[in-house]
Amino acid sequence: MKVFKFGGGILKNTEAIQAMSHVVRKEVELKSTQSGQQTLVVVVSAFYQMTNAFELVYNDIRQGKTEDLNHIVSFHSSLIEDLIDEQDVQVREKFHAIICELQNALKLVQNLSYDEGYDQVVSFGEILSSLIVSAYWEQEGLIHHNLDARKLIVTDSCFREGKVNWDQTGKKIRKSIGSDGEFSGSLFLTQGFIGGTQHGYTTTLGREGSDYTAAIIGSIIDAQEVVVWKDVPGILNADPTQFSSTRKLDEISYLEAVELSYFGAKVIHPNTIKPLQNKNIPLLVKSLFAPNDSGTCIVERSVAPIDIPVLIRKENQVLVSIQARDFSFVVEDALAEIFSILARYRIRINLMQHGAVSLSLVFNQNQKKLDALLDALLPNFKVLYNGGLELLTIRHYDSQAIAKYTQGYRIYVQQQSRKTARFVLG
Ligand code: ASP
Ligand code: MG
Repeated sequence: MKVFKFGGGILKNTEAIQAMSHVVRKEVELKSTQSGQQTLVVVVSAFYQMTNAFELVYNDIRQGKTEDLNHIVSFHSSLIEDLIDEQDVQVREKFHAIICELQNALKLVQNLSYDEGYDQVVSFGEILSSLIVSAYWEQEGLIHHNLDARKLIVTDSCFREGKVNWDQTGKKIRKSIGSDGEFSGSLFLTQGFIGGTQHGYTTTLGREGSDYTAAIIGSIIDAQEVVVWKDVPGILNADPTQFSSTRKLDEISYLEAVELSYFGAKVIHPNTIKPLQNKNIPLLVKSLFAPNDSGTCIVERSVAPIDIPVLIRKENQVLVSIQARDFSFVVEDALAEIFSILARYRIRINLMQHGAVSLSLVFNQNQKKLDALLDALLPNFKVLYNGGLELLTIRHYDSQAIAKYTQGYRIYVQQQSRKTARFVLG
């Protein structure tokens, strides 16, 4: 059993959907020549930039503007026209029915909290992508079963960050896919990122959460591997759009992958690793355009040590320094208060430094959250902040790398451990 995940980063156009279908077909054919039929689960996320497009539409509606679905409708319609024979009226009818459902959902969201409404709207990205992929596969004779992730991945009702109910999700997945499922041995298609509560409300798992969906399914069905398909050769030591001369890492440990995603490398969704590590299931990151190349393999114990600095740059950071008004140390009680405020506004700290009389925090700049934090802190604390900064993390650093990548910047905060050097730069 294997799980393949295809993200919006690569599902950009007709050619990419054809290429992904080709990779899936190859795998299915390979499996059927091997020992009997083997299950393959394919997880797709929304097409290229569509989740962002849904967010924009949703935010407009929340601000009382009229809906503008033109971009979303034309993007998907043109894929349908390019990929699917005009005789296939069924997919076109389904597409229109889904767009009507979306329009209805947009009418109802005003009565919901921001987060709940968000999930009811943004989840349509995955519903549409899976509809189109499924129709294309059907046309191409790639026999498969569709699974609705909203009924498969059971979460609590923490909208936009649904926590998975493993027990119930396990039962549902095993029943539909696993060894006790009646379709075991087949090809399945489902959506990443989305789930549903026990009572049938749609939830999402957090932005970029499709990797996590693939890991959840992989771990429940005891997959032999989970493959995340990308348009890069694997995990690189730095983002090629930010740094020149990057190199692929052939093999890294689960721990290293967790560290990298924690520090902000956009390689893998941070939650993805744990379910796989628990079952010792390798995670492969491979290129859709070079499917026979080895990619990067994430395993328990890597045999290939990382011999090159790994660079992770997070832009748009804000540095907040908090001091007690009476210049006392920021001690336990004050820390407890500060952390409860951070939790209340769901502010995720990217770096923290504790000094004699102050606590410095770095997080993604978000004006709404920053204002809320300042309002909550100002009665008891003196607060200073600097925005527009960048957080550079260098794993496996050496002095040359530090000199090269911090040159020309002002260093606001600096932290160094045995393997990791981090700099807040402005
Ligand atoms: N489509 C969702 C997003 O863009 C989930 C994913 O891509 O993994 O956040
Ligand atoms: Mg996406």
